[in-house]
Amino acid sequence: MRIGMGYDVHRLEEGRDLILGGVKIPYEKGLLGHSDADVVTHAIMDALLGAAALGDIGKHFPDTDPEYEGISSIELLRRVGQLLEEHFYFIGNIDATIIAQRPRLAPYREEMVRNVAAALGISEDQVCIKATTEEGLGFTGSGAGISAHAIALLNQAADYEYGDVKRDCGGCSGCPADRK
Ligand code: MG
Repeated sequence: MRIGMGYDVHRLEEGRDLILGGVKIPYEKGLLGHSDADVVTHAIMDALLGAAALGDIGKHFPDTDPEYEGISSIELLRRVGQLLEEHFYFIGNIDATIIAQRPRLAPYREEMVRNVAAALGISEDQVCIKATTEEGLGFTGSGAGISAHAIALLNQAADYEYGDVKRDCGGCSGCPADRK
Protein backbone atom coordinates (compact mmCIF):
# COMPACT_ATOMS: atom_id res chain seq x y z
CA MET A 1 0.00 0.00 0.00
CA ARG A 2 1.39 3.43 -0.92
CA ILE A 3 0.18 6.96 -0.26
CA GLY A 4 0.79 10.19 -2.17
CA MET A 5 -0.13 13.84 -1.81
CA GLY A 6 -0.62 16.61 -4.32
CA TYR A 7 -1.04 20.37 -4.03
CA ASP A 8 -1.62 22.97 -6.70
CA VAL A 9 -2.53 26.63 -7.11
CA HIS A 10 -3.67 28.63 -10.12
CA ARG A 11 -4.39 32.32 -10.43
CA LEU A 12 -7.93 33.50 -11.30
CA GLU A 13 -8.07 35.81 -14.32
CA GLU A 14 -10.77 37.33 -16.48
CA GLY A 15 -11.19 35.89 -19.96
CA ARG A 16 -10.56 32.26 -18.94
CA ASP A 17 -13.02 29.39 -18.42
CA LEU A 18 -13.22 27.99 -14.90
CA ILE A 19 -12.69 24.22 -15.19
CA LEU A 20 -12.64 22.10 -12.02
CA GLY A 21 -12.73 18.32 -12.07
CA GLY A 22 -13.47 18.52 -15.79
CA VAL A 23 -16.61 20.61 -15.18
CA LYS A 24 -16.99 24.04 -16.78
CA ILE A 25 -18.36 26.20 -13.96
CA PRO A 26 -20.11 29.48 -14.71
CA TYR A 27 -18.05 32.29 -13.16
CA GLU A 28 -16.71 35.71 -14.10
CA LYS A 29 -13.10 34.46 -14.06
CA GLY A 30 -11.18 31.28 -14.82
CA LEU A 31 -7.89 29.74 -13.83
CA LEU A 32 -4.75 30.75 -15.70
CA GLY A 33 -2.40 28.05 -16.95
CA HIS A 34 -0.82 26.30 -19.91
CA SER A 35 -3.46 23.54 -19.93
CA ASP A 36 -7.05 24.19 -18.88
CA ALA A 37 -5.56 24.88 -15.39
CA ASP A 38 -7.93 22.43 -13.68
CA VAL A 39 -6.32 22.82 -10.27
CA VAL A 40 -8.04 19.92 -8.50
CA THR A 41 -7.29 17.47 -11.31
CA HIS A 42 -3.66 18.62 -11.19
CA ALA A 43 -3.50 17.98 -7.42
CA ILE A 44 -5.03 14.51 -7.96
CA MET A 45 -2.49 13.67 -10.68
CA ASP A 46 0.39 14.72 -8.44
CA ALA A 47 -0.99 12.63 -5.57
CA LEU A 48 -1.22 9.57 -7.83
CA LEU A 49 2.22 10.09 -9.35
CA GLY A 50 3.66 10.75 -5.89
CA ALA A 51 2.23 7.54 -4.47
CA ALA A 52 3.84 5.64 -7.34
CA ALA A 53 7.12 7.60 -7.00
CA LEU A 54 6.79 8.52 -10.68
CA GLY A 55 7.60 12.21 -10.32
CA ASP A 56 5.05 14.95 -10.97
CA ILE A 57 2.89 16.34 -13.74
CA GLY A 58 5.58 18.85 -14.71
CA LYS A 59 7.84 15.92 -15.56
CA HIS A 60 5.26 14.05 -17.62
CA PHE A 61 3.43 17.01 -19.21
CA PRO A 62 5.84 19.98 -19.28
CA ASP A 63 4.18 23.38 -19.67
CA THR A 64 6.81 24.29 -22.26
CA ASP A 65 5.43 21.61 -24.62
CA PRO A 66 2.91 23.01 -27.14
CA GLU A 67 1.15 19.58 -27.16
CA TYR A 68 -0.32 20.42 -23.75
CA GLU A 69 -1.43 23.98 -24.49
CA GLY A 70 -5.12 24.25 -23.59
CA ILE A 71 -5.41 20.46 -23.15
CA SER A 72 -8.11 19.00 -20.92
CA SER A 73 -6.57 17.98 -17.61
CA ILE A 74 -9.05 15.09 -17.47
CA GLU A 75 -7.31 13.74 -20.60
CA LEU A 76 -3.96 14.09 -18.79
CA LEU A 77 -5.47 12.26 -15.80
CA ARG A 78 -6.48 9.42 -18.11
CA ARG A 79 -2.84 9.18 -19.23
CA VAL A 80 -1.67 9.12 -15.59
CA GLY A 81 -4.10 6.23 -15.00
CA GLN A 82 -2.55 4.35 -17.92
CA LEU A 83 0.93 4.97 -16.52
CA LEU A 84 -0.12 3.53 -13.16
CA GLU A 85 -1.53 0.45 -14.88
CA GLU A 86 1.73 -0.02 -16.77
CA HIS A 87 3.50 -0.05 -13.40
CA PHE A 88 0.94 -2.49 -11.91
CA TYR A 89 -0.59 -0.03 -9.48
CA PHE A 90 -4.27 -0.06 -8.58
CA ILE A 91 -6.01 2.95 -7.09
CA GLY A 92 -7.45 2.42 -3.61
CA ASN A 93 -9.05 5.83 -3.18
CA ILE A 94 -8.58 9.54 -3.84
CA ASP A 95 -9.61 12.36 -1.53
CA ALA A 96 -9.36 15.98 -2.67
CA THR A 97 -10.27 19.42 -1.32
CA ILE A 98 -10.70 22.55 -3.40
CA ILE A 99 -10.17 25.85 -1.60
CA ALA A 100 -12.07 28.72 -3.18
CA GLN A 101 -13.95 31.68 -1.74
CA ARG A 102 -16.20 31.82 -4.79
CA PRO A 103 -18.05 30.46 -6.70
CA ARG A 104 -20.02 27.95 -4.67
CA LEU A 105 -18.85 24.53 -5.83
CA ALA A 106 -21.19 22.12 -4.02
CA PRO A 107 -23.59 21.79 -7.00
CA TYR A 108 -20.75 20.53 -9.22
CA ARG A 109 -19.04 18.06 -6.90
CA GLU A 110 -20.86 14.95 -8.09
CA GLU A 111 -20.10 15.68 -11.73
CA MET A 112 -16.42 16.25 -10.88
CA VAL A 113 -16.32 12.87 -9.11
CA ARG A 114 -17.94 11.20 -12.14
CA ASN A 115 -15.36 12.74 -14.49
CA VAL A 116 -12.37 11.75 -12.36
CA ALA A 117 -13.63 8.20 -11.78
CA ALA A 118 -14.38 7.72 -15.49
CA ALA A 119 -10.95 8.99 -16.56
CA LEU A 120 -9.26 6.51 -14.24
CA GLY A 121 -11.65 3.60 -14.81
CA ILE A 122 -12.52 3.37 -11.11
CA SER A 123 -15.77 3.54 -9.13
CA GLU A 124 -17.24 6.82 -8.01
CA ASP A 125 -17.08 5.59 -4.40
CA GLN A 126 -13.27 5.60 -4.70
CA VAL A 127 -13.23 9.36 -5.27
CA CYS A 128 -14.19 12.21 -2.96
CA ILE A 129 -13.96 15.87 -3.95
CA LYS A 130 -14.79 18.44 -1.32
CA ALA A 131 -14.79 22.22 -1.34
CA THR A 132 -14.14 24.80 1.36
CA THR A 133 -13.34 28.46 1.76
CA GLU A 134 -10.57 29.98 3.84
CA GLU A 135 -12.96 32.41 5.51
CA GLY A 136 -11.82 35.32 3.37
CA LEU A 137 -8.18 34.90 4.34
CA GLY A 138 -5.16 34.76 2.04
CA PHE A 139 -5.10 34.51 -1.75
CA THR A 140 -8.06 32.16 -1.97
CA GLY A 141 -10.06 34.40 0.32
CA SER A 142 -9.38 37.51 -1.76
CA GLY A 143 -10.33 35.64 -4.95
CA ALA A 144 -6.83 35.96 -6.44
CA GLY A 145 -6.60 32.20 -6.94
CA ILE A 146 -7.86 28.72 -6.17
CA SER A 147 -5.84 25.94 -4.54
CA ALA A 148 -6.43 22.21 -4.17
CA HIS A 149 -5.03 19.42 -2.04
CA ALA A 150 -5.33 15.71 -2.80
CA ILE A 151 -4.20 12.43 -1.35
CA ALA A 152 -4.30 9.07 -3.07
CA LEU A 153 -3.77 5.53 -1.95
CA LEU A 154 -2.38 2.92 -4.34
CA ASN A 155 -2.19 -0.83 -4.07
CA GLN A 156 0.24 -3.00 -5.96
CA ALA A 157 -0.49 -6.30 -7.65
CA ALA A 158 1.82 -7.91 -5.08
CA ASP A 159 -0.43 -6.73 -2.21
CA TYR A 160 -3.31 -8.76 -3.60
CA GLU A 161 -1.26 -11.87 -4.46
CA TYR A 162 0.41 -12.13 -1.08
CA GLY A 163 -2.83 -11.42 0.76
CA ASP A 164 -4.61 -14.09 -1.23
CA VAL A 165 -1.97 -16.71 -0.60
CA LYS A 166 -1.60 -15.94 3.09
CA ARG A 167 -5.28 -16.33 3.86
CA ASP A 168 -5.60 -20.05 3.14
CA CYS A 169 -2.25 -21.27 1.88
CA GLY A 170 -1.71 -24.98 2.28
CA GLY A 171 0.93 -25.23 -0.43
CA CYS A 172 -0.11 -25.98 -4.01
CA SER A 173 -2.12 -28.99 -2.97
CA GLY A 174 -4.04 -26.79 -0.56
CA CYS A 175 -5.47 -24.58 -3.32
CA PRO A 176 -9.18 -24.99 -4.01
CA ALA A 177 -9.89 -26.70 -7.35
CA ASP A 178 -11.31 -23.53 -8.89
CA ARG A 179 -8.00 -21.73 -8.43
CA LYS A 180 -5.73 -24.41 -9.88
MG1 MG B 1 -1.33 23.16 -12.10
